[in-house]
Amino acid sequence: MKFGGTSVGDAGAIGRTVDILARYHAEGHEVAVVVSAMSGVTDQLHAIAAEAESSVEEPPIAAFIQALRAKHLKTLEAAAPGQAEEVGAVINERLVNLEHILTAVHALHELTQRSKDYIVSYGERLSALILSAAIRERGIPSTALDGCEAGILTTSKHGDALVLPQSDPRIHSRVVPLLMDGMPVITGYMGCTPEGIVTTLGRSGSDYSAAIVGRAIDADEIWIWTDVDGVMTSDPKIIADVRVLPYVSYREAMELSYFGAKVLHPKTIEPAMEKDTIVRVKNTFNPDSPGTVVRRQEQKEKRVVKAITHIARVALVNINGVQMIGRPGVAREIFTALGDAGINVMMISQASSQANISLIIEENDLPLALEVLSAPVKSGLVREVTSDRNVVAIAVIGAGMAGTPGISGRIFTALGQAGVNVMMISQGSSEVNVSFVVRQDESRKALQVLHDEFRLSEECKDE
Ligand code: ADP
Ligand code: ASP
Ligand code: MG
Repeated sequence: MKFGGTSVGDAGAIGRTVDILARYHAEGHEVAVVVSAMSGVTDQLHAIAAEAESSVEEPPIAAFIQALRAKHLKTLEAAAPGQAEEVGAVINERLVNLEHILTAVHALHELTQRSKDYIVSYGERLSALILSAAIRERGIPSTALDGCEAGILTTSKHGDALVLPQSDPRIHSRVVPLLMDGMPVITGYMGCTPEGIVTTLGRSGSDYSAAIVGRAIDADEIWIWTDVDGVMTSDPKIIADVRVLPYVSYREAMELSYFGAKVLHPKTIEPAMEKDTIVRVKNTFNPDSPGTVVRRQEQKEKRVVKAITHIARVALVNINGVQMIGRPGVAREIFTALGDAGINVMMISQASSQANISLIIEENDLPLALEVLSAPVKSGLVREVTSDRNVVAIAVIGAGMAGTPGISGRIFTALGQAGVNVMMISQGSSEVNVSFVVRQDESRKALQVLHDEFRLSEECKDE
């Protein structure tokens, strides 16, 4: 069971989390717990690390540490009063360490990828101590482990590390013995390389940590506890009349998370899929609601389209030039240049005239992409490269779309009738999704128009 940041956001939330855990413990389940940082803390750690590096003035490190200490100690005192002193001392020790590191970053004005990962992993290293203490306070034995102690070994790609397969037996041998009578609490988001260097798994990566632990310990199910009732037909922060999807398939969940449904990290599904383990998404603040089951089986609904997602922080890159017509190898040149620079291309579309290739990449990657694409412009292979940051990628998702004619027609007719201009279209060969790009200021309208067109707020019977 993985609990997200809001599920441990304050002492009240931790109390609910422990209620849930105590209930499953009493029912005789063996539960390994993976926990995120208290909500907001990871963002703050990223911000202070950047400030420590770049600030010419004295950065507010001491004040930051003081605030973090107050927040965590206050929560600990409320959630586990009997252990406030003992666990509080460990929290203090960790914060002293963190303060030293931030001070060193400022002194050197250098924040390496390695030090950044080390710093931002502290959120989980503090929350896990508190949750574990709160579990013990209820009379259930519990040990807090960081990702490295739990045996999670990763590649050295800082900020977006992948878990190495040799982690599984290590995690198994370290975590399973702790399940016999208690509930180990493992920090999400962090792991370390085989050399012992701390890494992080990408923002929102605790879901991925949970899936890895689940696979390694042969869990019957992997449960993601969050702040909404499950995987929904669209982002509930944008669309008012969203509905919880009782079932989604692995393929659909992967597409949903890849195309912006923040409720699951995109890397969560694969480890679960390998062992056919069910992933359940549930609400810590409404635990009796059934949530969403993610499983292999594809349930064809009559309606075909299941969900609409969006990704906001992207950029559109247009590569234009008649020189490309009929010339082999141009696409290879472009994608090799981007790939070598480590830039992930999220969507591709090529006009059949071949005079134009459009790409969607992460907004952060845009400066680098424009830099590496200046080479084919200089060599005359392409005429010009233009870009646009004010765009949003939207994906219409549903396994039933494969082989159902007319879906694209409905999507683009509905958008056209609503006056939404579509800038780029791409359909994956899986046919689980149709994705397209619109201007930022039209994205909300586009989402709502499609949510209405496919009547996603209404229940739908299975086929
Ligand atoms: P946690 O901190 O528990 O990991 P996250 O904030 O990472 O929680 O993910 C849950 C959030 O994902 C929800 O509050 C919701 O705003 C957002 N979200 C975006 N798209 C969807 C979707 N299709 N279904 C459910 N939630 C979604
Ligand atoms: N705390 C990390 C983040 O905010 C990981 C997570 O919450 O899943 O990105
Ligand atoms: Mg999350």
